[in-house]
Amino acid sequence: MRSKQVVAAIGWRTPSVRHWLQHNQDKMSANMARQAMPTGAMQAFVRKETERILAACTKCGKCFEACPMTRYSPKLAGADPKAVATGVLGLLNGGEGSPEALAWASVCVRSGSCVPACQDNVDPKMMVRIARMIASGGLGGTKKIPVRDDRDYYDRVRAFAKLQLTEDEIKNWM
Ligand code: SF4
Repeated sequence: MRSKQVVAAIGWRTPSVRHWLQHNQDKMSANMARQAMPTGAMQAFVRKETERILAACTKCGKCFEACPMTRYSPKLAGADPKAVATGVLGLLNGGEGSPEALAWASVCVRSGSCVPACQDNVDPKMMVRIARMIASGGLGGTKKIPVRDDRDYYDRVRAFAKLQLTEDEIKNWM
């Protein structure tokens, strides 16, 4: 019987399922910690994209002007779009980033509204995404913006994924 069917039959809140979740908690947390940092191909991709963006962006600030989220950060009220873009590039270039650049990275929800605003095909969504990765410490540097730490979220995702896999799939994939 597949794990999914077992859980459907007995319900995930039963002591046995809870025990399984508790038993695997440490292993899952260790896996999560290992996977938190981009590695290999992903790191190379981020590096390449960063170089491309640094070379292509003219710091015109049009992407910032098009962003629907700026109104949700008091730090961005009256901010100069060109200065914010310059701050974001500074962050990508290994600098500290201006308070406005960090504020913009914090409120980004990846709407993509900035993409068509850029006349230079920079892909500002990627630019701000990388800025956010840097600012949140996701690339190994100091954390400069608050990020929501919900370690249980990923554990829950993995636990439920595992409960839907066959024994062979668990052995091969997890
Ligand atoms: S990403 Fe594009 S729109 Fe934004 S500042 Fe750079 S060139 Fe201008």
